[in-house]
Amino acid sequence: MGEHDRPRVVISKCIEFDSCRWNGLMIRSPFVENLKEHVDFLLVCPEMEIGLGVPRDPVRLVGNENSVRMIQLETMKDVTKEMESFSSSFLDSLEHVDGFILKDRSPSCGNKDVKIYPKMGKVAPFTTKGSGIFGREVVARFAHLAIENEGRLNNFVIREHFLTKLFTLSRFNSVTKSGKMSSLVQFHTENKFLLMSYNQSVMRLMGRIVANPERKAPEEQIEEYRKLLSMAFAKVSRYASNINVLMHALGYFKQSLSSKEKSYFLQTLNRYRNKKVPLSVCTELLRSWIMRFNEQYLDQQSFFSPYPEELIEITDSGKGRAL
Ligand code: SF4
Repeated sequence: MGEHDRPRVVISKCIEFDSCRWNGLMIRSPFVENLKEHVDFLLVCPEMEIGLGVPRDPVRLVGNENSVRMIQLETMKDVTKEMESFSSSFLDSLEHVDGFILKDRSPSCGNKDVKIYPKMGKVAPFTTKGSGIFGREVVARFAHLAIENEGRLNNFVIREHFLTKLFTLSRFNSVTKSGKMSSLVQFHTENKFLLMSYNQSVMRLMGRIVANPERKAPEEQIEEYRKLLSMAFAKVSRYASNINVLMHALGYFKQSLSSKEKSYFLQTLNRYRNKKVPLSVCTELLRSWIMRFNEQYLDQQSFFSPYPEELIEITDSGKGRAL
């Protein structure tokens, strides 16, 4: 597989970049700190952009799931209109991006789990949760991109999925830019195992596009493929499909490995199935054989290294949050 492109990611500015929270603080995120080396960040603080200073009177969402207002707690100033029009104009003006990292639970940036209060007042209990005003607009326009909030990225599975999707979308952007079927064919070849691990039936539909290059104009085919790519990444890859891909890869070494090596691999696979070891223990074994036997088809598969290795970090929040 070739060099990774640098993805473009919009990020809430108060995460690792600026002390622009309402209380003058910044959120520390070792994950984002590491990511700075590998992605181009576009910074945004919607609350500062609409003229709220630092420190500032915090804002709250008031209303219900269907209709919310953004109100400043002390002054009762309604800034909904300002926030909505900033969100639209900022997102309208965005050039190509591959993903978003948003501050969780923020009434502006949060994409989920933001408290909505039925009325104003410092002690009013919240009755429901929803999205912040900027976060809601991001999801409405860019649901096909890699979008996560900084809190959920502490979870190992969610983080892996986010990075895999982000770097794959970024690589796909080179195909879109080239407008060539030959680039699409190469992309499909290099990502076949990865797509198989996410969604086999969607991967087959993608394969049909690649197998019939004359069917439509290249731009149309690439656009159809892009939609399927979003569908493939709609859910995290599952244990069963990863095991299927690993078995498929093992098949390439049927003749070359000793029976002891093969049975050790199957035992490791079982430990992965029983959640005793991460996927990387199995893929690392296969990678060592890819090198030993110079297995070039597998060597180019993004499945074995979907994003830069420096970003692999096995820490986990332990919250076991689902996607
Ligand atoms: S959450 Fe968003 S609006 Fe709030 S400080 Fe961070 S960047 Fe600014």
